[in-house]
Amino acid sequence: MALPKFAFLDGKILPYAEAKVGLLTHALNYGTGCFAGIRAYWNAEEEDLLVFRGSDHFVRFLESTRLLSMELQFSVERLVGSLLELLQKEGLREDCYIRPLAFLSEETIGVRLHGLKASVSMVAFPFGKYLDRDEGAHLTISSWRRIDDDVIPPRGKITGGYANSAFAKTDAQNAGFDDAILLDTNGKISEATVSNVFLVRRGEVITPKTTDSVLEGITRRTVITLLKRELGCPFVERSIDRTELFLAEEAFLAGTGVEIVPVTRVDHRTIGSGQPGPVTEALRRVFFSAVHGRLPKYRSWCEAVYSSSPRVLARSETVETGA
Ligand code: PMP
Repeated sequence: MALPKFAFLDGKILPYAEAKVGLLTHALNYGTGCFAGIRAYWNAEEEDLLVFRGSDHFVRFLESTRLLSMELQFSVERLVGSLLELLQKEGLREDCYIRPLAFLSEETIGVRLHGLKASVSMVAFPFGKYLDRDEGAHLTISSWRRIDDDVIPPRGKITGGYANSAFAKTDAQNAGFDDAILLDTNGKISEATVSNVFLVRRGEVITPKTTDSVLEGITRRTVITLLKRELGCPFVERSIDRTELFLAEEAFLAGTGVEIVPVTRVDHRTIGSGQPGPVTEALRRVFFSAVHGRLPKYRSWCEAVYSSSPRVLARSETVETGA
């Protein structure tokens, strides 16, 4: 992958190559970091880049830092401002992905959360599809169980917790599947490796509760709003058995990376008709209009990069290339 030109690190924008960490960095050794994944969409008519629900992502990001007992001086507004500034510096005019990261940055040995310095970084780069399966993905139910709130809280987007997703993803791909769904410790469906799971059964849309070992997805919230307000679908959050997925009329994944991907097979069983279903297709249409800023009702979810006010922008110190 092509590397970004710049990076935000602890309040400054640096050339990417100069934003480095040492080998003893605590988070690199112990997984004591947390992150966000945000998309920005290029709107060709407006010739502007629109960050989708940046503030909501940063609210969850700061919640994750609190779970890790990090002491940081950044507000949501400051993080959004720094993100807009970084995107302007990168000058991207295409769909892209932003990766904010907060990490215990002291170079020291000793497993703990307390009494350690934390850093915040951000990078942005062009990004296409994460899971290229618009025609429908084939998933497996992983033999790995999802981490639980009393193991590594999945409610926080904690770097160390992603080893759990990585085990499941690699085993799924090695076995010929596109991705995996993990069951929680009670044997109920939690989520896929980087996305929330929805299914449609008897006309009702169902997704696991936020207490069923899932990340509180921003796309999940977007989907719930659009299902209720735009599609008028009956909707419920409740625990889901594996076999309900097998019997579903439709299933789909929702996340910033995957966006909305239909699930048409699970462990070689066909879901519904075996094609993306009508609810999933209608939802995808309204979702992609919303993220591109084309629905006035949801325009407040989008933050324009190039026409944003300079007041928000002039907050980070920009460090020019050390040439
Ligand atoms: N679950 C997991 C484990 C994830 O990594 C993600 C991606 N952030 C999601 C769900 C979806 O969350 P969001 O819609 O906020 O990207």
